[in-house]
Amino acid sequence: MPPFEPPVRHLMGPGPSDVPARIRQAMAAPTIGHLDPEFQGFMESLKAGLRALFQTENRMTFALSAPATAAMESCLANLLEPGETAVICRNGAFGGRLADMARRLGARVVTVDDDWGMAPDPQKVEEALRAHPEARVLAFVHAETSTGARADAASLCRLAHEHDCLSIVDTVTSLGGIEVAVDAWGADAVYSGSQKCLSCPPGLAPVTFSARAVERVRARRVPVASWFHDLSLIAAYWDGEGGRSYHHTAPVNALYGLAEAVAMLREEGLEAAWARHRMLHERLIAGLAALDLEPLVAAGARLPQLNTVRVPEGIDEAAVRRHLLQRFRLEIGAGLGPLAGRIWRIGLMGAAACPENVVLCLSALEDALAAQQYRGASGAAVAAALAVEVRA
Ligand code: PLP
Repeated sequence: MPPFEPPVRHLMGPGPSDVPARIRQAMAAPTIGHLDPEFQGFMESLKAGLRALFQTENRMTFALSAPATAAMESCLANLLEPGETAVICRNGAFGGRLADMARRLGARVVTVDDDWGMAPDPQKVEEALRAHPEARVLAFVHAETSTGARADAASLCRLAHEHDCLSIVDTVTSLGGIEVAVDAWGADAVYSGSQKCLSCPPGLAPVTFSARAVERVRARRVPVASWFHDLSLIAAYWDGEGGRSYHHTAPVNALYGLAEAVAMLREEGLEAAWARHRMLHERLIAGLAALDLEPLVAAGARLPQLNTVRVPEGIDEAAVRRHLLQRFRLEIGAGLGPLAGRIWRIGLMGAAACPENVVLCLSALEDALAAQQYRGASGAAVAAALAVEVRA
């Protein structure tokens, strides 16, 4: 097999996002044993860094050695026992995935459905929780990557508490891009992914569990069906003080990369990173408006890091993405499910949320649309974007 030489790409899709050289270099450091005392010290400092990102004091905070899909499964498998009821918000692909997983785990699933592009409606969630007082868990996606809609996490977590449920929150696309305030929300099991606003390669899932969630796992009648995901077993690896014991072999070098991402966000400051995503999103939206392209999501619920845009009538959406990739090495995302063929998904995530990417994306998009004789491609997009002030 010939060696694979990945082509140069600008990653402005739904993830992975561009991985900065600093993170790639950190991952190239020598591999050491995962039970080496030095590595155990490193794991402790990584846990502290992840707590700061999640804005939590939760002791049980670590990085699952798996993609975020496994973290979804892990949270559900630990907090639900067969036959228990879970209320799950379904307003996009990932809410749907949560519901499907919970069903396969033997839970009774009550879905609260909202149209793709809308945020979960807290009133409907409250009605579902009232109608199902037996519910044990409320699960929702904070930043729905398939639509670009943002959930009101604080209100949904409060409703979960008022109805004696634990909350499971997907922050895969939100962590590092917008505020994730685990303790202030009172969220119970929160997972994320390495490849979005943290700008690491895919494959790791930061997670955090509240004391209430850990207690629920301890009090289970039936052991967690998955050995790998059983939090009480993983705890001996990530949470054992001094006497840490083998559970699996953690991906040592990938964790170096994640720690570097955490350090970079600490240096920038979390609030500064959120402001960067927001300001560049405003620029992008101004440029898209000059192209007469319409956002899918209403202004109040838009995610700055994942911008969904309606494909205009008569435009071949796949041909536009091909044009961007072939001519500009630029990746943007297609729509999923009912939005396939109807939207583009433009990511401004982590290191990819930079002024030059906004300019590249708008000018490339304008070129691709002009190639299809689109009437809105008048050369004004970049100027409109740059007219939006961005503080350094
Ligand atoms: N949840 C959300 C909101 C996501 O956007 C994704 C991936 O795009 C996932 C979960 C699953 O992550 P992974 O593909 O790393 O398993």
